[in-house]
Amino acid sequence: MKKKIFTLVLAMILVVSCLAGCGSQGGTLTVGTNAAFPPFEYIGDDGNPDGFDVALIKAIGEKMGMKVVIQDMEFDSLVSSIGGKIDVAIAGMTVTEERKATVDFSDSYYEAVQSVIVPKGSTIATAEDLKNLKIGVQLGTTGEFIADEIEGASVSAYNKAVDAVNDLNNGRVDCVIVDKNPAEVFGAQFSDKVDVIDGSAFDFEPEYYAIALPKGNEDLAAKINNALNELKADGTYDALVKQYIEE
Ligand code: GLN
Repeated sequence: MKKKIFTLVLAMILVVSCLAGCGSQGGTLTVGTNAAFPPFEYIGDDGNPDGFDVALIKAIGEKMGMKVVIQDMEFDSLVSSIGGKIDVAIAGMTVTEERKATVDFSDSYYEAVQSVIVPKGSTIATAEDLKNLKIGVQLGTTGEFIADEIEGASVSAYNKAVDAVNDLNNGRVDCVIVDKNPAEVFGAQFSDKVDVIDGSAFDFEPEYYAIALPKGNEDLAAKINNALNELKADGTYDALVKQYIEE
């Protein structure tokens, strides 16, 4: 009898610990991203997702002894897929109070701000100038949330930020609001057509990128944060910043 109870208790412990984070604690960490946000994530020359975030999460996985599988999906569906199709998401994702209602976040790994991409020679220079404009943004991003608050603005949201930039070049929108580093990449790509203005000119607040995690899985959060701290301490993080962001 005692043995039976012992077996039952053991089985229950197994089930409970599995519920607390089975999929994410095994050998594989399935990571969602949106590989259209350079330099943080993009499709590399070999056809696979690459970029700072991809390299960072792979390094984190290595520290955790887990295999990382990257799942490329739309930015807008990342948060709702955590705990389902994916274990975590890394996608230049800004920590916001709204998202915190659904997911937890790791420690922040990068500070960013929104920038404004304008046609070359544009007179747009201050927050006042953004009023009543046609503004292109990426769907479900903090750029969209900011644009929605601008008086009189009519906002067009695209699945990919580059499509907003294409419509800027076609004259369908007057400017694009997108995170600073991708804005700089697009600015360089279309340097004959656009200028990039830093968000400080518009009083945009700093934003903090972090890895989105399933709500309440403290064990996974601690492991990811520990790995992140180790990578900062051993120089890997700085090397990745140099390789992908400051190259
Ligand atoms: N940082 C922005 C956000 O979190 C944009 C991220 C992205 O487009 N990948 O909403």
